[in-house]
Amino acid sequence: MSDSMEQLVREFERFPGIGPRQAKRFVYYLLATSAQARATLSTLVERVGEEVKQCALCQRFQSGGREMCSICADKSRDKTSLLLVEKDQDIIAIEKTHLYKGHYFVLGGVLTLSGKGVIREDFLVRLIKQKVKEGLSEIIMALSATSEGEHTSDYVRTLLAPYRTHVRISVLGRGLATGTELEYTDEQTLSGAILNRKEF
Ligand SMILES: [Zn+2]
Repeated sequence: MSDSMEQLVREFERFPGIGPRQAKRFVYYLLATSAQARATLSTLVERVGEEVKQCALCQRFQSGGREMCSICADKSRDKTSLLLVEKDQDIIAIEKTHLYKGHYFVLGGVLTLSGKGVIREDFLVRLIKQKVKEGLSEIIMALSATSEGEHTSDYVRTLLAPYRTHVRISVLGRGLATGTELEYTDEQTLSGAILNRKEF
């Protein structure tokens, strides 16, 4: 393989759920496609980075150049509740239940048991400090029912310890099958998990 092929394979390997074999398949696919298709793809990759920005509050990705996303800017939403998820897609899953009317924060990932992974903890602490002043009374941890999700919830709970006098911390109730990601949980199960949340 040429240098650029090897580099591209390594870049694809960084994608979630993609191993070395799949990364190579992507590269060979790109080689087999037309020069124009490759150019379109590379332009789109650049453009998405320019057009889509993170919401200053919840950190989810949004287009339109606004500072705040539509949920954070919605004054009719419940300011006393903040729900923590791993990724943007989890918000879509929760919104589909029509049960939750509060605000969100996207951690941006999970921490692995071996100490890898990054979450947006500085943004989170800053947001919670601000929201406590605005009347925040509950933080709901809605992470995946995986060992990484649980490990991350434990870590975040420690991080939020100083705010426990003002804020109740709860976790989604049982019902989420072990090993499932929130994104792939059906609406009914997710609704049950929200309604049956418990003190954490
Ligand atoms: Zn937002």
